[in-house]
Amino acid sequence: MAFGFFKNIIQKFTGKPVDWDELEEMLIRADLGVPMTMKILKALQERQNVTANDVVEVAREEIQKVLPLDNPPLRPFPAKPKVILMVGVNGTGKTTSTAKLAWYLKSKRHTVMLAAADTFRAAAIEQLGVWAERIGVEMIKGQYNADPAALCYDAYASADRKNVEFLICDTAGRLHTKHNLMAELNKVKRIFAKHDEQAPHEVWIVVDATTGSNALQQAREFHQAIGLTGVIVTKLDGSGKGGTVIAIQNELGLPTRFIGTGEKLEQLEPFDGRKFLEQLL
Ligand code: GDP
Repeated sequence: MAFGFFKNIIQKFTGKPVDWDELEEMLIRADLGVPMTMKILKALQERQNVTANDVVEVAREEIQKVLPLDNPPLRPFPAKPKVILMVGVNGTGKTTSTAKLAWYLKSKRHTVMLAAADTFRAAAIEQLGVWAERIGVEMIKGQYNADPAALCYDAYASADRKNVEFLICDTAGRLHTKHNLMAELNKVKRIFAKHDEQAPHEVWIVVDATTGSNALQQAREFHQAIGLTGVIVTKLDGSGKGGTVIAIQNELGLPTRFIGTGEKLEQLEPFDGRKFLEQLL
């Protein structure tokens, strides 16, 4: 949803009857997803003489019903290390978000270790290594093509030994087939249970807000295959399309935990439902 999206609706429909087809198209184009669009239209159709202000009011009410307003970005697990598994297709900003998250946690005085578990892309290992050095956190890496599950197992042991609070694992976004990728990610996910039954404590998918319905589809596929606990939505600075946050929450019940608002380390923010809603207005 383009920020300021509601303003567009007001401009479009002020002083004239609401054109239902046009409104439906606007809501779909804002990446809210078909079910959320239908919810809004249905609630509106229960009103008489619908005005532009009614549209905004109802859309806001319906979005507020599904969007958690006071969710903490990190759930309070007592475990140490807490493991965050970062998944998602290449190009969404997964490696950058992994680095940004390490930076964010470090700035909150937590100790962090990174695991470069995308062992199929030498460039990804290198890229994360550069970030790790800049941030000043340790990164565990293996040989190119090493078994990512074994690497994660070792990384956990190392984080545990060093009393590190957070272990963030960057994983592969692409293998020869989607089936292979999901099997590999499931293997990585299961390996942690040998150390701690509750680990990984979080499995977050990174999606690119500018890809709209593709982002929703990726979240759906990863959630079905490996089970997710949250989402990081990147590139909200670009086109400013945020409807995908609402569609993923509405259709998959997955909360957005952080948002990416630029390429720099500090451009990752905990998701704030209230602020997000305000920005839509
Ligand atoms: P990966 O393949 O998913 O690991 O993606 P990368 O982390 O390499 O990121 C792909 C590109 O997206 C890079 O050029 C990043 O700088 C850029 N990027 C990542 N997050 C954001 C964001 O929040 N905003 C913007 N504008 N660019 C981003």
